[in-house]
Amino acid sequence: MAKRLLLFGPPGVGKGTHSKRLAADLGVPHVATGDMFREAAGRKTAVGLEVGGYMDRGVLVPDALVLAILEDRLARRDTVDGYLLDGFPRTVPQAEALARLMTMAGTRLDRILSLEAPEDTLVKRIAGRFTCEGCQASYNRFYLAPKVAGVCDRCGGRLFQRRDDAEATVRQRLTEYLARTAPVLQFFKTQDWPLRSIVSLGVVDEIYGRIRQAVEA
Ligand code: AMP
Repeated sequence: MAKRLLLFGPPGVGKGTHSKRLAADLGVPHVATGDMFREAAGRKTAVGLEVGGYMDRGVLVPDALVLAILEDRLARRDTVDGYLLDGFPRTVPQAEALARLMTMAGTRLDRILSLEAPEDTLVKRIAGRFTCEGCQASYNRFYLAPKVAGVCDRCGGRLFQRRDDAEATVRQRLTEYLARTAPVLQFFKTQDWPLRSIVSLGVVDEIYGRIRQAVEA
C-alpha cells in the first residue's frame, strides 16, 4: 500500500483532521510543518519567535526556514518506510525542493491527495475549530462537537482555538493560499505526480472513506 503520501489543500479543508487519522492507521509519521512551527513558537526559541510572527499575521513562513526544518525532519530514521506530509509544500519553490529531495533519495510520492471544498465552507470550518491542548485532537462546533463543550472526548484535555484562526487572519491565509499555494497544484499536474482530487464535503467519516479509497486504489 502507498506509504509516502501528501495531503494538500486550503486552510480549513480538513488536512489536519484526516492526516492525523490516516498517519495513525497506516503507521507512518505525520509530518506537519504547521505543527512543527507551532511547537517551535511555543518553546519561544529564536526561530520559534520568528515563525510565530508570520503565523500570527496569516502569512507564509519564508521558504528557506521551511526547507531547513523539513529536510531535518525527513532525515530522521522513522521516515524510512514512509510518511504523511501535511501543509508542505505551500509554494512552487518548496515543491521544486521536494522534487529534488525525492530524486536524491531515489524515492517518489505514492499519492498526493488534494482536498477540495468551497470557500464559505472553509471559513466556517476554521471559525468553529478547536484543538485539544493535551492530545491535539481536532473538533468543530459545527461539524464535530465534543460531548462536553470545551473538553476533549478522548483525554479530557482543555480545548482551545488557534490564534491564527481569528477571522481576519483566516481571510489573509486564504489569500496567501490562492496567490502562492494553489499554483503548486499546477506544478504537480505538469510534473505528472500521482495526484487524486477528493471532495471534502459531507460527514467526516465519509470524507475519510474517500481518502482511504484513493490511497488504496
Ligand atoms: P497549518 O497548521 O498547516 O495551517 O500552518 C499554520 C501556519 O504555519 C501557516 O499559516 C503558515 O504561516 C505556516 N506554515 C506551515 N507550513 C508552511 C509551509 N510549508 N510554508 C510556509 N509557511 C507554512
